[in-house]
Amino acid sequence: MRLELLTVGTELLLGLTIDTNSAEIARVLASIGVEITRRTSVGDDRDAIQDAVGAALDRAGTVLVTGGLGPTRDDITKHAVAELLHMPLEFQEEIWHHLVERFRRLGREPAVTNRSQAEVPRGATALPNRWGTAPGLWLETPRGLVIMLPGVPIEMRNLLTHEVVPRLAPRAGSLVVRSRTVRTSAIPESTLAERLGDIEAAVRPLGLAYLPGLEGVDLRLTSWGAEAAESDARLDAGAAELRRRAGAHVYGEGEETLADIVVGLLRARGLTIGVAESCTGGLLGGRLTDVPGSSEVFRGGIIAYDNSVKVGELEVPAELLRLKGAVSEPVALAMAEGVRRRLSVDVGVGITGIAGPGGGTADKPTGTVCLAVAGLGDSHVRQTIFPGSRPEVRARAVQTALFLVRQRLLATQSP
Ligand code: ATP
Ligand code: MG
Repeated sequence: MRLELLTVGTELLLGLTIDTNSAEIARVLASIGVEITRRTSVGDDRDAIQDAVGAALDRAGTVLVTGGLGPTRDDITKHAVAELLHMPLEFQEEIWHHLVERFRRLGREPAVTNRSQAEVPRGATALPNRWGTAPGLWLETPRGLVIMLPGVPIEMRNLLTHEVVPRLAPRAGSLVVRSRTVRTSAIPESTLAERLGDIEAAVRPLGLAYLPGLEGVDLRLTSWGAEAAESDARLDAGAAELRRRAGAHVYGEGEETLADIVVGLLRARGLTIGVAESCTGGLLGGRLTDVPGSSEVFRGGIIAYDNSVKVGELEVPAELLRLKGAVSEPVALAMAEGVRRRLSVDVGVGITGIAGPGGGTADKPTGTVCLAVAGLGDSHVRQTIFPGSRPEVRARAVQTALFLVRQRLLATQSP
């Protein structure tokens, strides 16, 4: 089945909101065999919405619209579509009742303008929205199928998964487009490509894309136009081959992060971790505490930005700082050991570096970062030069620190 996407919102045209809805919907629908033939964005404008919906129906027969279903004056999608398709709006008591209930649970009263959200084009099906106030709408009309979803990404996502996909899947073709991502870290794209060798030939007919980012290089396999079961089998085999060739640099798949993996490994072994951060200013602690359940393993951190804190709180010898400089392997090591002692944790991590843009020297250029891990067998320390801007250097430093911890955890695992 062919379908066009239409996102509505003047903020999208101005670039003030990035149209993430289109990308997300495209991925989900491709995976169930819906062919997306065009994506369009228009502002909160009646004529523009009617033109776009009419044209999409003429071309593809089905259009999925997001945005502009709310109660405010700029939310006109439903009104514009109802008028275009000659479906007068009717107030539905049941939707209103749900709305009032929802407001009551949140300790609020609905505003008069909320009443418009209980209006549904005659003959349309309202898709219940448990995540917000505006229901989605499903309109089967002589001109084709119109699906309308709210613009708020979390509401859109839930309605798409729970209401739209189950209704569309039976009408879609059996040939699907599906992807699988294998995540690698601490290896440059070109070195990785060398390691993978003639991988394209080995995974054919799957497509392979290298997606370098601040967390490493993601390898995305895509299966085009095959039956669902066959796609999944090919992707399983392709991912296994990638893992085999990329070896220890692979840390996870899909949405998994390195912090998830590290917290999981620590938890499995009942170990605790603490961090001593200079140039990353708490970002490593932030990444670890992003993971639900991290309280079982993460005890805390010391942001030792100034040398006085490195000496006073982490017991880094002042003499060492003077002799080797704050950005040096021995200092990173002393920070890791210091935080391990001070917080009584099993694993201590130390990070010290020059995030830039200034502060670099000939022998320690901007981007130089020293990372240390204490407590998992012998202490480990590594000096690296990371490319990029200040935020990029900091993000790469955190990711590499997590990678080092993972490496030490795996190396000291009892068989
Ligand atoms: P509401 O009931 O909350 O008013 P709505 O259907 O009226 O929902 P909008 O008013 O268009 O939706 O947008 C609500 C929020 O969702 C805004 O913050 C907007 O920036 C965001 N949003 C809208 N469209 C998109 C999109 N295509 N991609 C990402 N975010 C979007
Ligand atoms: Mg709105």
